[in-house]
Amino acid sequence: MVRIRLGFKGASISAEGVTVALDHAGGEASCIRFVSHAHSDHISDIRAGQRVFCSDPTKIFCAIRGKFFDKTSFGWASLIPNGHILGSTAFYVPGELLYTGDFNDRDRPFQDGFRPLQAKVIVTEATFGVRKFKFGKEEETISEALERIGDLLGRDKCVIIVGYPLGKSQHLQMFFDQQLEGFRCYAWPSIETYNDIYRLFGKNIREKEKITAENTPELLEAGARVVYMPSYAKRLPLYEELRKRGATSFAFSGWSVLDQYPQMVEVDHSYVISDHADFEGLVKCVEMTNPEKVYVTHGFTDEFAKTLRGRGIDAEPLSGVHNRISHFLD
Ligand SMILES: [Zn+2]
Repeated sequence: MVRIRLGFKGASISAEGVTVALDHAGGEASCIRFVSHAHSDHISDIRAGQRVFCSDPTKIFCAIRGKFFDKTSFGWASLIPNGHILGSTAFYVPGELLYTGDFNDRDRPFQDGFRPLQAKVIVTEATFGVRKFKFGKEEETISEALERIGDLLGRDKCVIIVGYPLGKSQHLQMFFDQQLEGFRCYAWPSIETYNDIYRLFGKNIREKEKITAENTPELLEAGARVVYMPSYAKRLPLYEELRKRGATSFAFSGWSVLDQYPQMVEVDHSYVISDHADFEGLVKCVEMTNPEKVYVTHGFTDEFAKTLRGRGIDAEPLSGVHNRISHFLD
C-alpha cells in the first residue's frame, strides 16, 4: 500500500516501511529525501547525514554546492529523466504517483524532453502555469539570437550571454558553440565548473577560458568575444565594466515573455528559451498522466489548478493543503 502525506511544503510518500520526502517536503530525519535536481531552491534544506534518492549528476552538482550525502535507493520507485537539466528527474511509483519536479517536455538536440507516465496522483510544477506563457519554436528563437550575435561579433563587438549558471548556461553553449567557433569565448568560473560535469556525462561543450583576475584585463580589451556570465550578472562589477565599454548582453528565459524582463535583469536583449514546460506543456503532461487527482506546486499554483478544474480534472494547489493524509493507493 502506498500512502501520500501532503503538507504546504510538499508531499511525502510511504510504502513498505520506507518514507520518502519529495524535494521540499521536509519530514523526519529518518526519512529518505528525494532530490529532483540540484538547483539551489531544491537543495538548501538538505540535512547533513540525510539519505538521498537522486541521480548521479545531481549528487555531484550538490557536492559542488556544498551538500554532501549518501545516495540510497529502494525497490518501489524510480527516477525518470524530465528534461530540465543534466541529472534532473521525476519520481515515479508505477501506476500510483508521478512527482514531476521542474520539467521540460520539449526535445532538444542534446537532451530528450520529459515523457510523463500514467499515475493515479500527479504532483506537478506550474512555474509557467498561466496561458500567456506560450513558448515558440526553440530552434527559430536560437537562430534569431544567433543572427544578432553574429552581426555584433562581425563588427568586433563583445557579446555577453547571461543565463542561470547550472543548466541554462550549458544549454546555451550547446546551442551556440558550433556557430561561434573561432571566436574567443570566456566563461564565469562556476559556469565552467558545471561545464566539466556536463562533459563528464558525455555532453559536448567546447572548452572556454575561465574568467580569472589574470585574464580579466585582456578580456576587457576591445575585440570580438563571447562572455558567458551567470543570471546575477547585473551584480558583478565585470558586467558593468564590459557594458560601459560597449558590450551587448543577451538573456534567455521563459520570463522573457514579460515585457519588463530585460529591464529586470538589466540586459539589452532577451529571448524566450526555457528549461521549463510552457503552459500548454504543463497541461499536456497532466493529460498524459491521466490522473484521478492533481496537486500543483511551484509558480502559478492556484491559477493552474483552476485551469485544470475548468477542464474537468480534480486539481488543487499544494500550498492550500495542510498536513493531510490524502491517498491510500494499492
Ligand atoms: Zn530548477
